Amino acid sequence: MLTGLHIAIIGGDARQLEVVRKLTELDAKLSLIGFDQLDHGFTGASKEQIDQLDFSDIDALVLPVSGTNSEGHVETIFSNETVILTKEILAKTPNHCTVYSGISNSYLDTICKEGKRNLVKLFERDDVAILNSIPTVEGTIMMVIQHTDSTIHNSNVAVLGLGRVGMSVARTFSALGAKVKVGARKSEHLARVVEMGLEPFHLSELEKHVTDSDVVINTIPHQIVTSSVISKMPTHTLIIDLASKPGGTDFRYAEKRGIKALLAPGLPGIVAPKTAGQILANVLSQLLLELLNNREENK
Ligand code: NAP
Repeated sequence: MLTGLHIAIIGGDARQLEVVRKLTELDAKLSLIGFDQLDHGFTGASKEQIDQLDFSDIDALVLPVSGTNSEGHVETIFSNETVILTKEILAKTPNHCTVYSGISNSYLDTICKEGKRNLVKLFERDDVAILNSIPTVEGTIMMVIQHTDSTIHNSNVAVLGLGRVGMSVARTFSALGAKVKVGARKSEHLARVVEMGLEPFHLSELEKHVTDSDVVINTIPHQIVTSSVISKMPTHTLIIDLASKPGGTDFRYAEKRGIKALLAPGLPGIVAPKTAGQILANVLSQLLLELLNNREENK
């Protein structure tokens, strides 16, 4: 149980409602900032304005998956108010206050570092990334079905990258009957592709391996699907770029060549916000329990 822990949930989308649900079940005291248009009332949670909340007894700040933008603005789907997390707000929190965010940027990194507050980036954790790859793959399947006129079964699919998302994508498309090749640069990744019963290729030979692709799915957050690579693809190839913005594809050139290339960020929040929220809520509740135990030990 999280009894005695005071947590400020600042902004977010439908995923954050699962976090609120779970943390109220665990008896945490919640202050919700950026939720004024939310009809649902949660017992033990009160809606607050950021400039009126007393931060002096806040044990944890929970930000949305996106964290803040480069000026500190926090995305608030359930409010029209402007919510900005500043270093002055952080300075009002107790020293042990921990900030939880999906991802971070230099603004958030800097204010936490300067304010000496611990920042936990949930999406950097393997458990969150692996579980999140499940709704990401389902969203990818949805996009491929929507944007092609052939079955996935029997189609030629090239997956770029064998990280947490790439592995789930490759395995699932193969299970659907696609002929899957996977491009990677590490020999252990290429060996894993062999073990999975798929066709490996080194990324240095990418151009050779896209000449028969029906679908190319990129998971590498680096310019990898260059104009030169795109020029070797058949014109009917569909490129789905899952890598974080700006993706790894030369979208300008793809458009010029008449190849459909789609950047598809945030699929878990789009196709399965409830599951995506539960993934975050489960990990977060575990981390908050550790925070509570540490706080008690240091009293
Ligand atoms: P990951 O586990 O770190 O995997 C990244 C892969 O990219 C690894 O195979 C890595 O290989 C490779 N890579 C990185 N830089 C490279 C480079 N310069 N050249 C060649 N290969 C390179 O990351 P992940 O969790 O799979 O996530 C992949 C991307 O998808 C991230 O950008 C993430 O933000 C994004 N994502 C998107 C969604 C969505 O909804 N669209 C959902 C979840 C995640 P090495 O080991 O050789 O470096």
